[in-house]
Amino acid sequence: MRLSQYFLPLLKETPKEAQIASHRLMLRAGMVQQSSAGIYSWLPLGKRVLDKIENIVREEQNRAGALEILMPTIQPAELWQESGRYDDYGAEMLRIVDRHERNMLYGPTNEEQITDIFRAHVRSYKALPLNMYHIQWKFRDEVRPRFGIMRGREFLMKDAYSFDLDGDKARAAYNRMFVSYLKTFARMGLTAIPMEADTGPIGGDMSHEFIILAETGESGVYFHKDWMNINLDADIDYNADLQPFVDKYTSLYARADDMHDADNCPVTADELMSLRGIEIGHIFYFGTKYSEAMGATVSGPDGKAVPVHMGSYGIGVSRLVGGIIEASHDDKGIIWPDSVAPFGVAIVNLKPGDAVCDAEAERLYEQFDNAGLEPLLDDRNDRPGAKMASMDLIGIPWQIVVGPRGMENNMVEVKRRKTGETAEMSPDSAVIKIL
Ligand code: ATP
Ligand code: MG
Ligand code: MG
Ligand code: MG
Repeated sequence: MRLSQYFLPLLKETPKEAQIASHRLMLRAGMVQQSSAGIYSWLPLGKRVLDKIENIVREEQNRAGALEILMPTIQPAELWQESGRYDDYGAEMLRIVDRHERNMLYGPTNEEQITDIFRAHVRSYKALPLNMYHIQWKFRDEVRPRFGIMRGREFLMKDAYSFDLDGDKARAAYNRMFVSYLKTFARMGLTAIPMEADTGPIGGDMSHEFIILAETGESGVYFHKDWMNINLDADIDYNADLQPFVDKYTSLYARADDMHDADNCPVTADELMSLRGIEIGHIFYFGTKYSEAMGATVSGPDGKAVPVHMGSYGIGVSRLVGGIIEASHDDKGIIWPDSVAPFGVAIVNLKPGDAVCDAEAERLYEQFDNAGLEPLLDDRNDRPGAKMASMDLIGIPWQIVVGPRGMENNMVEVKRRKTGETAEMSPDSAVIKIL
């Protein structure tokens, strides 16, 4: 991408309405624009990051055996009346009446919708296990939408739903999602701690919230200090028994404030960390709550009809954009982990119009482009200081500065955003270093 042809509306001033770093930086970097309270447009830079995150989530869901589908955003009220949640869900649900006076709603989650799909098609336990997911916009009319896209009203969620014959098999399905969540978040450079959780309005028997640490997080969290030195990025065989793996992680204490009981905490005070965190994912096993209410049964090996055991598994895809920024920024701007960076490398041409600089910048651009690193070329006329500051603000992991003085000796400057380290080298060495 050439900056002269891009839409990157950077803000010089810090927007007053933004209280936390991620909100401030997403506005300043021209990633999103508010449409109304808690509802945002995603501009080109923001959309690229959102897509990167979405793709990591998708790859790890697929790897864990979940099948991608796409359910609608608008759902009929009848389904929710069947499960009994139409009234229970309360004011967070956006209710809509269509021209034929039919009650509809903008889905805040999809347990009912997926159960309806399942019961229409699946008759036998032989079709199980089954796990289907989609990545779709949700609407929840939050009392206090805030912190930009972190607590939006319209937000992008990955939600998966598992179907199994009995509780043991459902537990195995839960374990596959548990492990895949650890992998998913580790790939984004995040340490997400699974915390035993309350099942809330979803209802059910077993639940973990995945929480990343951030000073601005809305949950207080308590956990064993060994969580700080855990590497969650392991190779997983999803056909193996994952219980030992899950046991290993769940044996280390971790609870959000609503589940933490200071008087009955098994961890000694000197080993207990008390910090703040952001919920980025949440998994539930809720047994037959929806399948019984909605008549989703299969015939078991003995021919008898039994309600299926279900679980649901959410990831806040759009919230993750803010969450990653909270975890990775400095006073100059965002520091994207390589895996979700909107562009892999920025090439800053300090003197567009200078034949030597132009030729070298273009040559570098082509090499990175061919290698699939998604380069961003700053080919605009602007002050060098302003150009470098913009690249720091939008957080591109590598920056190469091509200037007339360096080019006299065939040298460019290479900078790693994360460490701030810079080094002079030939353009060819720069390519080797970065690729
Ligand atoms: P919270 O406690 O933050 O209100 P929740 O527990 O209501 O979230 P879940 O129903 O567990 O949310 O939904 C799954 C995931 O969707 C959450 O873990 C979170 O990452 C994301 N999410 C929920 N509400 C919002 C929101 N208003 N804006 C952005 N993401 C959200
Ligand atoms: Mg909520
Ligand atoms: Mg919650
Ligand atoms: Mg939750």
